[in-house]
Amino acid sequence: MKVHLKQIPPQGLHIEGEEDAAFLELAEHEEIYVKTLGPVRYSLEVGLSGGGLFATGSLALDLQFECVNCLVKFDYPLRVENFAMQTELDGRETVDLTPYAREDILLALPPYPHCDWNGERACPGAARNINDVSSESHAWDALDQLKLKQRK
Ligand SMILES: [Zn+2]
Repeated sequence: MKVHLKQIPPQGLHIEGEEDAAFLELAEHEEIYVKTLGPVRYSLEVGLSGGGLFATGSLALDLQFECVNCLVKFDYPLRVENFAMQTELDGRETVDLTPYAREDILLALPPYPHCDWNGERACPGAARNINDVSSESHAWDALDQLKLKQRK
């Protein structure tokens, strides 16, 4: 994700491609289990203005998490739709966008990954922790209560 300034025309430059996810160094993100399932895909508009370089666009990365409740591993498509960065050039001829992409991706990671994040499955770990679950809606209410407790 290195950009050569000389390759940026006045109207700006569209770049897209893939970058090996190793630069994210997610293994050092030790609080949660997370594994990358593929490269970071990017689609960016790059431009120059007032002695600086800016880039906006989207980043996509498929991840695997482990549910904090039931420990099941599940796939999670991480999307950063509003990536934006800006930097002074200071005489440089190339700018590496990867540190900015890494920062935004780390910020977008869910702090407590749950396997039921998209509502397609009910987390069995959450249900096991709740007694007297008489209906699914009660289960969801109880789950919300549980989440609130965990946040405190
Ligand atoms: Zn779960």
